[in-house]
Amino acid sequence: MSSIVVLGAGIMATALATPLSDNGLVQAAGVLSAAPGRVGLDGSSGLVITDPTPEAAGSLVARDRARIELQADGVGPGTTSDGHRVQVLANVGTLDDALLASRADVEGVGLFRTEFLFPDREQPPSVAEQTEAYTRVFDAFAGRKVVVRTLDAGADKPLAFANLGEEANPALGVRGLRLHRELRHLLDDQLEALAAARRSTSADVWVMAPMVATPSEASWFAALGRAAGLPTVGTMIEIPAAALRSGQVLADCDFASIGTNDLSQYLFAADRMDGRLAPLLSGWQPALWSTIRACVSGAAGKPVGICGEIAGDPLLALVATGAGVSSLSMATARTGLVRAALRRHDLATCTAMLQAVLDADSPEEARSAVVTLADRELALVLG
Ligand code: PEP
Ligand code: MG
Repeated sequence: MSSIVVLGAGIMATALATPLSDNGLVQAAGVLSAAPGRVGLDGSSGLVITDPTPEAAGSLVARDRARIELQADGVGPGTTSDGHRVQVLANVGTLDDALLASRADVEGVGLFRTEFLFPDREQPPSVAEQTEAYTRVFDAFAGRKVVVRTLDAGADKPLAFANLGEEANPALGVRGLRLHRELRHLLDDQLEALAAARRSTSADVWVMAPMVATPSEASWFAALGRAAGLPTVGTMIEIPAAALRSGQVLADCDFASIGTNDLSQYLFAADRMDGRLAPLLSGWQPALWSTIRACVSGAAGKPVGICGEIAGDPLLALVATGAGVSSLSMATARTGLVRAALRRHDLATCTAMLQAVLDADSPEEARSAVVTLADRELALVLG
């Protein structure tokens, strides 16, 4: 039996309900040459196993059954066993994605990636077209929360109509909110459409900007959002500078959402699209959690969620709860197991898990310390 570690950011794959590791699947060398029917995917560890022995295949199937049973407990609002609330929300991109999530047992949307609505367009969508698309999503989530991210164009999400030309380092270039500042009409149109769509539905609409680095950028965006008629405005925290100064960054904002996919990329200077660097981008890196903890405590009580892929890892969701986050947003397919994990642990255990990660010297040590503190059935399912 040979195993191939699969690494990288598999956002779309995860959204399509494929069980994958926290980093998802972008690289699986050797899989295509395996005999048909001779590939196993261990969604907990992110291992692709080629030519598994009958025992290995049997154990994968048994663990999958146990996972399905365990996640049957994961219904209703997110809460720990002692009643500490953490909202469990869905990440959505396309309209289909949003409609599917709206029929699931989720408390709302924690990250609506609006750039996936208009991927193959040479010209920007009109205000009317955007209003219609947002209204459909908000209607589907009537009475629930929907956190919308304004266009995060650039780097890993190129959009033809929001492109200022070649850059040597697109991930460090004019992307996200930086592009909003250069192409103001795109932001103004989007805010106008979001405000119009919000007025016609009962969804609780929150709007946030991507790739904010400084307090003045966050305040600039918050003022524009409020002026457009959007009462709840916030920022993503994806850049270490913003995480470390969250109090100042949130001065004029209502909330923050930590995007750990990019936060890890910038914290470790490791391209999130390069599978070879995935160990640096592991959600178990202690330095990532030092940064998250600093961000949450700096926010002084304002809601701070996590909407990066790590929120969908049940053990990391517990660590995040210990760090004091108010919401966890993930691919819809992951919400059941995360809620089940929350219900099996109290807040004190989650706090101890965070401390164990902060005390660890490596991601491996961090994970094994948390597994030791975790409920046995959950630990067995996750392997
Ligand atoms: C993130 O960076 O963690 C995030 C949620 O945004 P995206 O993956 O879309 O960049
Ligand atoms: Mg991001």
